[in-house]
Amino acid sequence: MAKVPVIDADLCTGCELCVDTCGDVFEMKDDLAVVYNAEGADEDEIQDAIDNCPVEAIGWKE
Ligand code: SF4
Repeated sequence: MAKVPVIDADLCTGCELCVDTCGDVFEMKDDLAVVYNAEGADEDEIQDAIDNCPVEAIGWKE
């Protein structure tokens, strides 16, 4: 299986930046971002969301 993005809910501040960057993968749920479709975008687009997260709450899980 390909690697998938995961969000550490303890770090996420709910800034919504990843949803703005990559709304086909991330969505807001109860004021925090969650991964609702890990295969909704290619890796480069997801990597952009990872790089842009101000608190580094998003990572890859192999
Ligand atoms: S960019 Fe980071 S802190 Fe902001 S909502 Fe997404 S996971 Fe949370």
